[in-house]
Amino acid sequence: MKEHVTYENFGMNVFDDRVMRERLPKDTYKSLRKVIDQNLPLDPSLAEVVANAMKDWAISRGATHYTHWFQPLNGCTAEKHESFLSPNKDGGAIMEFSGKMLTQGESDASSFPSGGLRATFEARGYTMWDPTSPAFLKEDKSGVTLCIPTAFCSYTGEALDEKTPLLRSGRALNTQALRILRLFGDHMVTRVSANVGVEQEYFLIDLDDYKARMDLMLTGRTLFGAKPPKCQEMDDYYFAMLDERIASFMKELDEELWKMGVSAKTKHNEAAPCQHELAPIFSVDNIAADQNQLIMETMHKVAQRYNLACLLHEKPFQYVNGSGKHNNWSISTDTGVNLLEPGKNPYDNAKFLVFLCAVIKAVDTHAGLLRASTASAGNDHRLGAGEAPPAIISMFLGEEILAVIKNIAKNRENNPSDNRILDFGVETLPRVSADSNDRNRTSPFAFTGNKFEFRMLGSSMSVSWTNTVLNLTVAQALDEFATMLEVSTDFDATIKEIITTTYQQHKRIFFDGNGYSQEWVEEAARRGLPNLTDTVSCAAALIDPKTTELFEHYGVYTNGELHAKYQVMLETYMKNRMIEANTMVYMVQRQLYPAAVNYARDLMQTQQCFANFDMADSGVMEKVSHIRSLLLDSDRTVAFLKEKMQQVKGASPTLKQAEICAQEMLPIMEQLRRIWDEMETITSKQYWPFPDYFEMLFGRD
Ligand code: ADP
Ligand code: MG
Repeated sequence: MKEHVTYENFGMNVFDDRVMRERLPKDTYKSLRKVIDQNLPLDPSLAEVVANAMKDWAISRGATHYTHWFQPLNGCTAEKHESFLSPNKDGGAIMEFSGKMLTQGESDASSFPSGGLRATFEARGYTMWDPTSPAFLKEDKSGVTLCIPTAFCSYTGEALDEKTPLLRSGRALNTQALRILRLFGDHMVTRVSANVGVEQEYFLIDLDDYKARMDLMLTGRTLFGAKPPKCQEMDDYYFAMLDERIASFMKELDEELWKMGVSAKTKHNEAAPCQHELAPIFSVDNIAADQNQLIMETMHKVAQRYNLACLLHEKPFQYVNGSGKHNNWSISTDTGVNLLEPGKNPYDNAKFLVFLCAVIKAVDTHAGLLRASTASAGNDHRLGAGEAPPAIISMFLGEEILAVIKNIAKNRENNPSDNRILDFGVETLPRVSADSNDRNRTSPFAFTGNKFEFRMLGSSMSVSWTNTVLNLTVAQALDEFATMLEVSTDFDATIKEIITTTYQQHKRIFFDGNGYSQEWVEEAARRGLPNLTDTVSCAAALIDPKTTELFEHYGVYTNGELHAKYQVMLETYMKNRMIEANTMVYMVQRQLYPAAVNYARDLMQTQQCFANFDMADSGVMEKVSHIRSLLLDSDRTVAFLKEKMQQVKGASPTLKQAEICAQEMLPIMEQLRRIWDEMETITSKQYWPFPDYFEMLFGRD
């Protein structure tokens, strides 16, 4: 019988603080807490005791296997299951799990992307326990598995994953933020970290439709498909009532996530048909990143139980909205203070203003890098497509906060706006006070009360890299401010100077208008803001000297690691596009072409019948001729596409090849799609070899 999950079951599958306190000897618990809270190195003897307790706990909950769970640079999570079983001398077996097995694993790194960091002959990679993200149990058809979040590095210590740089950037942010806090006389805080809450968008379609579409299965998006008669123009999906099957899916998803300690909080329908969203309550960046991976995995798993396929691609369907992730980010102390909280009177809240200025400076100085941290082949179809934020990074602070900064910079008195009360003119409705600033929904980087919401991220990507960049660029700005304040003889005057120069040097980034409009594209160009429209044009930001200096200075990435990241970015992009191109050719030649000629043949036979009855001018031949001309177009376009594919293929692509891919190959693919989408509109549905947009988006049972 299915276990009934109540609130008490929240976190029941997590080796969290509660369990640790219960199962670890007091001194071990205290030492481990110190390691976690203060980022101290882990003593091997400590690991031994923790491993033992973790094993007993996991086995008591039915676990037979454990896995080092990590995030290589392919955007997925990786796991290699090992059983606890170990044979003993008398032919039996015991359940074994040592400190070494907990803390370190070895894995062949050669099959994961490494951007040329390593040759196959030295392909050893290590996974290392990250005690700051709690171990958890995963329950599925394979049984119960103890998952240990780990970092993944090469034999020579280079980071080969998403977690390592995120942890390193968190360390930099902590150091610099503490410097600032000390300058404000705060000696209580011992740790500062970024909090992250990720809103995750996704699509759910019938599993049978998904399996009938090779493009969805292999590339995550539909490479063909004519526009259905209705899309989302009636705005009737957003927040709409959930249908029963989806509501059950969401309920089970929540329950699965709660058990693993993921505090799934909001769920609703999104703008496009079949599109939905889930957001958990925010947590420390590293945990939030792990949990977001877990959310995506669990969505896939639970969907299948409902005969659904979960699509996490950024643009599975043309003509309707794509999916993104909103990365809500703030900085807070271990004493529970959110440093981005403006308070009642932001004008006099110098600490808040310094942290705010650090974010402003960071985002403008490293706009290209920040944009690059969200780039992927999938997201290229979304950013700037009139639905998601544009590819230009701008910032929305809200009227009130912007006025505070501006007034300080311009030596003007501040005029705090009155608390505005909304009166609906109906006595029975309560009067509510309006937020001091409305939300600009088109801004890619918006201040939303006490956090920033970065909306450029793609739905399928790991959030680690973006948060690494955010943490690090803000750390750099804080570093600069701290240095100014440390040598200053007039603290208040230096604070004012920080605010004034930040405003003057970075005001070009503030934008409050419609971020989706063409006027903004032009205005942004006048302001000198980068408009990096695709992944390939973003890549250079990773190896820009400004970036190298930033990463090397804080020990987050070496120059070599950054180059590897750059190479992986190009390679992943190219591989995606090549798979898409190959899939298109396959679908055209083996599915679409045969369907069209079958239809044409039947039409011609019909024409023959008409002729037999002296009705040769039936109009049927016009249709046949239309099909014929599209077939010829298709043949020419496929030949052209294949030629381009030859030009760009290769194991480690150059920037030039990637450019050809984005600027020349992709348009040919789009042309091929147009031909077949036109063919679809004139072909009998009966002949069409796979489900069309109407069936996928509106035919969900
Ligand atoms: P909306 O759609 O209105 O932006 P949601 O409730 O869908 O809001 O999501 C907001 C996300 O922001 C949630 O994950 C929430 O936990 C997170 N969040 C709230 N406060 C903070 C904060 N101080 N720092 C980081 N994330 C936060
Ligand atoms: Mg939001």
